[in-house]
Amino acid sequence: MNSNEIDIHKELKKYFGFSQFKGLQEQVIKSLLNKENTFVIMPTGGGKSLCYQLPALIQEGTAIVVSPLIALMKNQVDAIRSLSSENGVAHVLNSSLTKTEITQVKKDITSGLTKLLYVAPESLTKEEYVTFLQTVPISFVAIDEAHCISEWGHDFRPEYRNLKHIIKQLGDVPIIGLTATATPKVQEDILKNLDMTDATTFKASFNRPNLYYEVRTKTKNVESDIIRFIKQHKGKSGIIYCLSRKKVEAVAEVLQVNGISAVPYHAGLDAKTRAKHQDMFLMEDVDVVVATIAFGMGIDKPDVRFVIHHDIPKSLESYYQETGRAGRDGGEGHCLAYYSYKDVEKLEKFMSGKPVAEQEIGFALLQEVVAYAETSMSRRRFLLHYFGEEFDDVNGEGADMDDNVRNPKTKVEAIDQVVKL
Ligand code: ADP
Ligand code: MG
Repeated sequence: MNSNEIDIHKELKKYFGFSQFKGLQEQVIKSLLNKENTFVIMPTGGGKSLCYQLPALIQEGTAIVVSPLIALMKNQVDAIRSLSSENGVAHVLNSSLTKTEITQVKKDITSGLTKLLYVAPESLTKEEYVTFLQTVPISFVAIDEAHCISEWGHDFRPEYRNLKHIIKQLGDVPIIGLTATATPKVQEDILKNLDMTDATTFKASFNRPNLYYEVRTKTKNVESDIIRFIKQHKGKSGIIYCLSRKKVEAVAEVLQVNGISAVPYHAGLDAKTRAKHQDMFLMEDVDVVVATIAFGMGIDKPDVRFVIHHDIPKSLESYYQETGRAGRDGGEGHCLAYYSYKDVEKLEKFMSGKPVAEQEIGFALLQEVVAYAETSMSRRRFLLHYFGEEFDDVNGEGADMDDNVRNPKTKVEAIDQVVKL
């Protein structure tokens, strides 16, 4: 079967009920159906899953999908099952399955019923599974969240490093790698580590024209500044990121005392409290969630109106992901970061306890954040440049949506900066 024989628009409608592909989906799917190694870089929410789900559903054999989080895999399997009358159309293979369940999964794959098999990378290394998968037709292997393979990414998983070796044992199957990490370094790592430098690459723009980027100098009045900001955005939903759990608790309390409905969220709270606070935010029982980076993965609230960084993030990558939770609906999204060099030093000190290689990467990533905070050029241009994208800061979409463009620094301030450098 190749892409010319299948009406993929019809299949899109049939399986997903959508009448149009989003962005580069159609090109990606055609590339994969043509058995080419394919590399997809799209921002979060861009519609990456469909790029492998649709080709898996309409082809012979089973597609193997590698994904780092069991919760995400379960969600996707449930979603696929709801599109089909057969439960066996999608399965997860992991260590929590009973013997009987594993037998059923194998039966469904062998009979050709299973179109998508989700596996965690550590399960895929199991010899028993590899031996079995060698005996069944595999349509392709999808590596979701492919940046996990790179130490330069924000979520390095050593197990991802073994994938190339295992995929080779499955024979000559096409690979599709997908990520929302746009830095050229990470992309290079992915292609090299999956041994697919021949891949056809599809990269969507990372520009978010409706987000306004602003950096303010952090002083001891940062909390009252934040309170003022929130009061100016009365009734709007927002997230405030802090580096430590202690800070999260402290800031949440200050806000509450000042009449702002806010809840804390961090990994130190028990699961029940975390779920409750998350729901309160989603259901709009509270306006603001004050959180560590533990908050946000998979949160899809369309009308988050501001994301404030009380402390600077560890990398521009994280900054982009975290601010990306604002304005999902295309409406206003104000991204405000507070910056002080003291925070940088704190982070550096924190990192100095880590292995040397990790430290070097950490420092380099942090220096980019510093450069972003201190720049007097278009912040959007700076961010996009970091992601290997050229942005026209005069005519580009959203060009005037940042503090540096709206209020250019005075000459004296600019000279001051140069002298400091
Ligand atoms: P990503 O993995 O890139 O972050 P997802 O695959 O989770 O994005 O998709 C984000 C959202 O976009 C989902 O709600 C999905 O249903 C929706 N979506 C994907 N493709 C289409 C399409 N062609 N038309 C409309 N909505 C789509
Ligand atoms: Mg995804």
